Amino acid sequence: MPWSGAKPQLFVMMENIQKALTKYWGYDSFLPLQKQAMECISRGTDSIVVLPTGGGKSLCFQAPAVTMQGLAVVVSPLISLMKDQVDTLTECGVSAMRIDSSMSASERDSVIARINEQSLKLLYLSPERLLSDGFVDFLKKTKLSFIAIDEAHCVSMWGHDFRPEYRQLGSLRQIFPDVTIAAYTATATEQVRSDIAQQLRLKNPQMLIGSFDRPNLVYKVRPRKSIVKQVCAVLDRHKGESGIIYCIRRKDVDSMCYQLAVKGYSVAPYHAGMTNEDRKNNQEQFINKKVDTIVATIAFGMGIDKSNVRYVIHTGMPKSLEHYQQESGRAGRDGLEAECCLFYSGSDYGIWKSLMSDMPEEARKIAMIKLSGMYSYCTGGVCRHKAILRYFGQDLNKDNCGACDMCLGELDFIDDALITAQKILSCIARLDQRFGGSYTALVLTGSEDKRIIENDHDKLSTYGLLSDYSKHIVHDWIEQLIGQDYIEKTGEYNVLNITEKGWRVLKGKETPRLLKPVERPVKVSRVITDSWEGVNKGLFEALRKLRSIIASKKKMPAYIVFGDAALRDMARRRPSTLDGFLEVKGVGEAKCEQYGEVVLAAIKDYCQANSLAMDVEV
Ligand code: ADP
Ligand code: MG
Ligand code: ZN
Repeated sequence: MPWSGAKPQLFVMMENIQKALTKYWGYDSFLPLQKQAMECISRGTDSIVVLPTGGGKSLCFQAPAVTMQGLAVVVSPLISLMKDQVDTLTECGVSAMRIDSSMSASERDSVIARINEQSLKLLYLSPERLLSDGFVDFLKKTKLSFIAIDEAHCVSMWGHDFRPEYRQLGSLRQIFPDVTIAAYTATATEQVRSDIAQQLRLKNPQMLIGSFDRPNLVYKVRPRKSIVKQVCAVLDRHKGESGIIYCIRRKDVDSMCYQLAVKGYSVAPYHAGMTNEDRKNNQEQFINKKVDTIVATIAFGMGIDKSNVRYVIHTGMPKSLEHYQQESGRAGRDGLEAECCLFYSGSDYGIWKSLMSDMPEEARKIAMIKLSGMYSYCTGGVCRHKAILRYFGQDLNKDNCGACDMCLGELDFIDDALITAQKILSCIARLDQRFGGSYTALVLTGSEDKRIIENDHDKLSTYGLLSDYSKHIVHDWIEQLIGQDYIEKTGEYNVLNITEKGWRVLKGKETPRLLKPVERPVKVSRVITDSWEGVNKGLFEALRKLRSIIASKKKMPAYIVFGDAALRDMARRRPSTLDGFLEVKGVGEAKCEQYGEVVLAAIKDYCQANSLAMDVEV
């Protein structure tokens, strides 16, 4: 009997956590690394937990906080993030509150009273509030279970979102020498991680680093042609669902927003040129589902924990894969399928490059490397999941991800890629490696452009070698060859040079991949079919309407009442009893008590009206 006698303390603590998971959150299992992260807190080991967006970082500290004695302090950079988490916890029946600058003195006093009563389990604070003199003294007299630092990359200057107030968190270790500190971030770079450990003065922290892959995101990349049409095609695949459209510049936001509104889409703009008031309004409308789609610059997104964003569209290329991962990562936080579409053009590269021209030399070099990395991603011809992971130094251990345009076979490669690439490369050689991509494409397609005639390039043996194709197609191929390192762009004018690898192609020793120019119909990813398996869509829609009624009555975002995953599980199991309802993933005791009756009634009505079986085993 291994556990007769006194049980090890950690074992008991983890058992309690498991029970809390079912009781409050309605979950029956851990997501990857959640258990290990909770064990660190339970054992009193400092930790840095790196999990992608949607990886379930909040639960790593929320569940231990509920089961441990004392108060857990959670540091968060934005009021909107604190509010979202506190509302979510309250809905689950967990005792959590926040203190922030938007609250009145009496509201703050009532939080202090709750802490003094020792009935509060989690307190959310900004770093400045936590470290203010009076508050430190107060907390020193309070029993703390541990301190969690969310969005911990904000302490690092190397991160994408450095916040000076976060820097001061370094003094926590000294103020609370015996309290465990746990830091959480989705940032993937090694440099930021070690900076976090150092800045926060963590004691031998356990590093828990998850896979950065987001298997539920379906990545698609297309050259930009008629962008409004391309965007509408995506929106039409997601009628009534929430999503974000990112544009590079403010004026692109305004123009895209206008054109979509005219066509009757439910959209609102967001960029730094608008008043705070307007921005805040539009953000709230989006979060509360009064508008489906927000059209924004990258000023939008930080502090948005909305879990049911079903698509993120980029109408231009971001300046790095870090940015792309961050922005596209706002889709599908709930683990359900979501689509990330990127429309790029060679001119985006030029725009970024000229914007970077003012940067100090060192910084500009790094920025340019990142920009090229991003561009190769667009033109590269490699599985998108694999390409992103590789960029962050991880590997995807499957050949077909089943969730990107490459692996879904939406893109076709041409059969005679070797010969076509040789034609392109030898034309670059004949032009003495002194011209850019568009000029080279013109020569290859046999254009009668004035410059070509003047330069006598219509006399070259490679002139018109690819005249069966349009100059756009040939230009795309050139970009694809750049993406695969057969050609590089050099100098101020992006002059094409043949690389070592390129010369191997000319000798027939290596074959590049070139995409077929035709657009093929969009395929449905397996990710999508799986997560809808057994779900009655009509009932799902009915429940969605009910959720939206409840949410607006409670003045709360719909996804806090029930996540999309929970709604789908209801429409799959179709329970007839409260016990059956508790089986639904994402339904804990508090939600069952609060909404059980209404939801069961709605399910019953729908099932009877449509002769649907209830209490389905899954
Ligand atoms: P992160 O902070 O890492 O981006 P969140 O903490 O916001 O992620 O969680 C993302 C989503 O995953 C939420 O909708 C949450 O309810 C869900 N989730 C977290 N843990 C689990 C679990 N063990 N089982 C099922 N869903 C979970
Ligand atoms: Mg989070
Ligand atoms: Zn793939």
